[in-house]
Amino acid sequence: MLTLIRGTDVYAPNPIGIRDVLISDRTIIRIAHRIDIEGIDIPIIERKGFKMIPGLIDNHVHVLGGGGEAGYHSRVPEIGIDRLIKGGITTVIGLLGTDGFTRDMKALIAKVKALRHEGMSAYALTGSYQIPPRTLFKRIEDDLLMVEEIIGLGEIAIADHRSSQPTVKELKKAIAGAHVGGLLSGKAGLSNIHVGNGKDGLFILMKMLEKSDIPVSKVHPTHINRSLELLDQGIHYSKTYGATIDFTTGLKEGPLSAHRAYAHAILSGVDPGRITFSSDGQGSLPVFDEKGNFQSMGIGDVNSLYQSVKKAHHESGLSRELALGPATTHVAKIYHLSSKGRIAEGYDADLVILDSDDEIHDVFMRGRQAMNERSLCITGTFSNE
Ligand code: ZN
Repeated sequence: MLTLIRGTDVYAPNPIGIRDVLISDRTIIRIAHRIDIEGIDIPIIERKGFKMIPGLIDNHVHVLGGGGEAGYHSRVPEIGIDRLIKGGITTVIGLLGTDGFTRDMKALIAKVKALRHEGMSAYALTGSYQIPPRTLFKRIEDDLLMVEEIIGLGEIAIADHRSSQPTVKELKKAIAGAHVGGLLSGKAGLSNIHVGNGKDGLFILMKMLEKSDIPVSKVHPTHINRSLELLDQGIHYSKTYGATIDFTTGLKEGPLSAHRAYAHAILSGVDPGRITFSSDGQGSLPVFDEKGNFQSMGIGDVNSLYQSVKKAHHESGLSRELALGPATTHVAKIYHLSSKGRIAEGYDADLVILDSDDEIHDVFMRGRQAMNERSLCITGTFSNE
């Protein structure tokens, strides 16, 4: 099946100008000033005056629902595909969080398979906050080798009263397992590390990197914009070790919001290609007092990913290409998603079309139109839309 999208201003994410884009089945097969198909009738979508960007990749979503830190009633529900599509997300990496006890990897993989069935490009990380990691098989390596959807480990928690308080040795062993599993299965084998509010911040990771041969590219700490101290430490960490870091878009607005942290990190000399954004969607955002007592609860919203990309351009003044990077090319490279994150011939047809206000107007997931003129064409099995 062929589909032709005519006349959008394409940010691939680098600006390539007004182009026609031809999709065959799941793949972009031609990008040109003008494409004419003769002899057969194919769907033609006219979008002059609109912009096209790559579908977004969200590398940290609690697709099964996270939370539970205020008791059983605070377990967050599963995400529906509708919310992801509305947020311009066409690729999602699902993971477990604090609750690696009542939630497990079987349920996570089942959810990822369900999202795939509905059209999303969905992947999973094995494990949860805890070490030893909550794996499907006995070893992390086996999970990566035997389960197609699993591409890494995480989120392993450090510097947090909710973590299993791992030692450097324990952390190193788990990250090495993911690395070797990744090598043998041809996947990223990356470890996503949740960094909490604890005093040590990234200290344990730096200690581990200094005392091991594990490539720094295999460690991807997240929530680096949760405090000014951690952001400063994250900038130092990235510059010193050539390391990647992730900013959470679902945190509260303010000086530490992801787009501001990103602009600040670039100004401080961090290589932008080493920075990703993720929403922490469907995770709980519990607020604790200084003694660790629970205060109140919020839920991470996947829509915050696109909002941060948009603000990185409109509010922080970054180019569209730089603003899109953390949710497209940067994250695709770090997670070895080789056909994702870019509008180019041979890449997956994961596309978002924006109107003149930069609002999401159309979404394509691997060539299937998921949103048309702001209305969903694909909805979840149990959706009420
Ligand atoms: Zn986390």
